[in-house]
Amino acid sequence: MEKKKILKGKRKRKHPQLEAEAESHPHHNQQPKSKPLGVSSKSVTTTNPYSSHIAPTPQQCLSLRDSLLALHGFPPEFAKYRKPQHDTNTNHHHPALQPETVLDGLVRTVLSQNTTESNSQKAFDSLKSSFPTWELVLGAESKELENAIRCGGLAPTKASCIKNMLRCLLEKRGKLCLEYLRDLSIDEVKAELSLFKGIGPKTVACVLMFNLQLDDFPVDTHVFEIAKTIGWVPASADRNKTYLHLNERIPNELKFDLNCLMYTHGKLCRRCTSKKGNKQREKCDDNNSCPILNYCKEPF
Ligand SMILES: [Zn+2]
Repeated sequence: MEKKKILKGKRKRKHPQLEAEAESHPHHNQQPKSKPLGVSSKSVTTTNPYSSHIAPTPQQCLSLRDSLLALHGFPPEFAKYRKPQHDTNTNHHHPALQPETVLDGLVRTVLSQNTTESNSQKAFDSLKSSFPTWELVLGAESKELENAIRCGGLAPTKASCIKNMLRCLLEKRGKLCLEYLRDLSIDEVKAELSLFKGIGPKTVACVLMFNLQLDDFPVDTHVFEIAKTIGWVPASADRNKTYLHLNERIPNELKFDLNCLMYTHGKLCRRCTSKKGNKQREKCDDNNSCPILNYCKEPF
């Protein structure tokens, strides 16, 4: 498509959900600069390339989950996406915790690519207030649509991705609704969503985990960096291979919490992974509070 150049600009973190499909988290983000949004380049491998790589063991996964949970608590912004069985009491009647529709979640993930969480949220809110229904979005002029989501960046690319997806969905299903995906398996959902141009594997993984409460483990930049740092994948791993390996190794029941916690830790901690002097990275800057560093010192 026409987006190559678009991805070259700055990228920032954003909502742990999307990214340029080649990269980050869903409600996450980041990666190769020259790929169209959400489109995987060549044929993507689907079997684990590191089947002989032992880490992470279930015990390592549990241990990291517990350490990160003790440090950060469960990140509140992800609470509403947790499986119902996770929330012991409350929640069910709270209107704010009504599940987001799958279509809203997919569009939110698209809008979260290559921008900050805050700008992506603003873009989504602006879209919904400008066009209260998906039918109106589909019928809108491209320019109007771009204007509504401009604050989230990559407006022409994202607007065209959203419109194409809606058009294709309407043709296929007769209505603008993705709730039917709730009854499908992970592989079936992947097959359905991969038919939409511009919707890449990372976006799909985010929708699987956040909106469909299926046991999938999206790999955004933060998750990717931490996984390499602690040796859960070889240092030469790329994001797709990391996705395949971690999805096979991490116990299903730990995927959601561990993913949200690794994302949150990667975003906040400036000690264990990268170099970027991100302002947000302050919270765990005190002494020895980074469990990732401890793991590096004393490998499990
Ligand atoms: Zn850290």
